[in-house]
Amino acid sequence: MTTAFYRRIEGTSDFHGPEAVRYDRIMAHAAEFFGRYGYRHVQTPVFETTELFARSIGDATDIVEKEMYTFQPGSESVTLRPEGTAAVVRAFLQNHWAATGGGQKFWYAGPFFRRERPQKGRLRQFHQLGAEAMGSGDPLLDAETVYMGLTLLSELGITRTLTRLNTIGCLAPGCRPQYRERLRQALSLDMEKYCPVCQKRFHRNLLRILDCKNPKCRELASHLPKSHECLCGACEAHFAVVREALTALGVDARLDATLVRGLDYYARTVFEFTHEALGAQDALGGGGRYDGLVKEIGGPDTPAIGLALGIERMMLALETVDGCACEPPLQIFGISLGDGPRRAMVGMLARLRQAGLSADMDYEGRSFKAQMRVANKRGALFCLILGEDELGRGEIVLKDMREGAEGQISLPLGDLMGALLGALRAAPAGAAKLSCPAAEGARP
Ligand code: AMP
Repeated sequence: MTTAFYRRIEGTSDFHGPEAVRYDRIMAHAAEFFGRYGYRHVQTPVFETTELFARSIGDATDIVEKEMYTFQPGSESVTLRPEGTAAVVRAFLQNHWAATGGGQKFWYAGPFFRRERPQKGRLRQFHQLGAEAMGSGDPLLDAETVYMGLTLLSELGITRTLTRLNTIGCLAPGCRPQYRERLRQALSLDMEKYCPVCQKRFHRNLLRILDCKNPKCRELASHLPKSHECLCGACEAHFAVVREALTALGVDARLDATLVRGLDYYARTVFEFTHEALGAQDALGGGGRYDGLVKEIGGPDTPAIGLALGIERMMLALETVDGCACEPPLQIFGISLGDGPRRAMVGMLARLRQAGLSADMDYEGRSFKAQMRVANKRGALFCLILGEDELGRGEIVLKDMREGAEGQISLPLGDLMGALLGALRAAPAGAAKLSCPAAEGARP
């Protein structure tokens, strides 16, 4: 008889071990970190109406044109969320969070879905951490948002990042519309020299020609008018404050006229963080101001700014700096032989876990030797050994796994907890060392 294995869908990932440790570390740090900046956690569904994304991200963007997972289970077309901002804005409006007062700063984390061509660092289901600040058009908040993203990365140990900054102006006639027109005129002179994707974008999404990765297009685009040189007075003043504030915060942000971000809702400040070790998919995250979006999807005129960081890319970057990421060691492994001792061990482990210790045991009826092997494999710091003889004497053996036979003592069962906590306290240095088996060469 053959066994059929189901396979993971292309572009999705399974992870555990060091990758899960990195993921957990990022998530735990983010919750505490965003709190320091006054952001509150928000959760939204993983699917929303298709119209919400089409309207906010823009019909002519890559995401809406070809990357969304859209289905129609009933009368309404729904889409797995390809990004976080539109849903947070929808939730902000629908739940009247503006009226609840206080800081209107929200952070989120979770899975997102884009039907892209899978490759290293580019998945069809990936995870993002994001933050959205609603209600303020203050350029100082733009600087805070860039600084916040960069600081989160560096607190996690992700350094060697590059911060790119640009402004794409606003929708006032003398600002982006005028810039777009200048760009269109300049491009129309030699559009045939650009790649076929850019030629298509000339009609559908002009600004994206600027961030084409094709070297020939990049060279041609470097001679095009720059958005930061074609701003209205208000956008120019806004951007000047952003840049000054970033300098004052010690952020070295490189002005990059080709940075436009792919989504329609951006206005004024846009930024991106890249990491040198990530290869072709080097963007760790980015964001920008989206002052028109809340109104666009039915709310009042509300300036806003946000950022999103890709968790898998952060995990890849962390891999290049920390080499090993180890799960916390199991503190106690219970080895028992015989029915009575096994039952007694279950109760003992329950009490140890209540006391905050991590403990596990064999549930597969293995021999003593095999249970010791499992304890070793699991990196257990201590073993508790209980056989019929020990149980009869009212004792249990505690074995320090770093020692040989001399690392073994008998403890009275009645005072197990006190004696065990004492023994663990007496062995902190060894315990700390053992917490990283990959660094030491894992034990057999
Ligand atoms: P975006 O809003 O598209 O700039 O996405 C923000 C960040 O999410 C990117 O900089 C990446 O780090 C991450 N990201 C976006 N798309 C993917 C993907 N398909 N696979 C993995 N990470 C992604």
